[in-house]
Amino acid sequence: MRLVLLGPPGAGKGTLAALLKESLKLVHISTGDMLREEMKKETPIGQEAKKFIEKGELVPDEFVIKLIEKKLTGGKRVEHGYMLDGFPRTRKQAEDLDRILGEIRQPLDYALYMESTLPVIIQRLGGRRVCENCGALYHIRNKPPKKDKICDLCGGELYQRADDNEVTIRTRMDVYLKSTRLVIDYYQAQGKLKKLDGDKDSEEVQAVLMQIFHEDRKLNKH
Ligand code: ADP
Ligand code: ADP
Ligand code: ZN
Repeated sequence: MRLVLLGPPGAGKGTLAALLKESLKLVHISTGDMLREEMKKETPIGQEAKKFIEKGELVPDEFVIKLIEKKLTGGKRVEHGYMLDGFPRTRKQAEDLDRILGEIRQPLDYALYMESTLPVIIQRLGGRRVCENCGALYHIRNKPPKKDKICDLCGGELYQRADDNEVTIRTRMDVYLKSTRLVIDYYQAQGKLKKLDGDKDSEEVQAVLMQIFHEDRKLNKH
């Protein structure tokens, strides 16, 4: 199954992806994680991306599309069973993704849209903590680690993303409303969009999603 995860920052895309990785054995491809990795390694893409990420703006399409194209068609490509998290974020990215997947005859199955409300988003992003070693997601109140500031899974240290501050969160929301919302219409028009209530508990969201997949399979759509 090939999925894209859409929704505002903080809707719970990464958290749902971690659950689906376990339950459906799908590979998690996050452009945010990939860009942060490039930044850490101080590659040319990483250095360029940093300027935009710090401000909460979108990294130019060409950089992100290049990373994704390599991941999906390159030497060590992921062929079956993946979810794209945080990509596409513009109409241009969505069109290029269709072109790339068209060339290798591997169309997307679903675009999952996690809807979430502003107060929930702000609470979630403000309390988000990430493992610097394995990328696991935590929240100071909603999902605290067992040991303070230490990852339950690998013992790595938890950190707060530099762009999870109030000013940058506001910019990211504006960018989302201006550009990324259009991507939702794009998949709606293709009949691939499935809406999920991101404000709900992530286990509950996953259960609803499994039901949707199940119903579709019964109808022989996939
Ligand atoms: P969130 O988890 O809050 O949705 P991400 O980790 O997906 O955030 O992205 C962090 C930042 O990385 C974004 O604010 C943006 O600057 C950059 N970024 C990630 N994915 C893309 C993309 N597909 N196009 C452009 N910029 C991106
Ligand atoms: P996104 O990838 O959409 O930006 P994340 O999955 O990183 O969102 O979640 C943002 C923050 O909210 C994290 O700290 C995460 O632990 C928390 N979170 C995610 N989903 C839920 C949920 N359904 N209920 C409560 N907290 C959540
Ligand atoms: Zn970890």
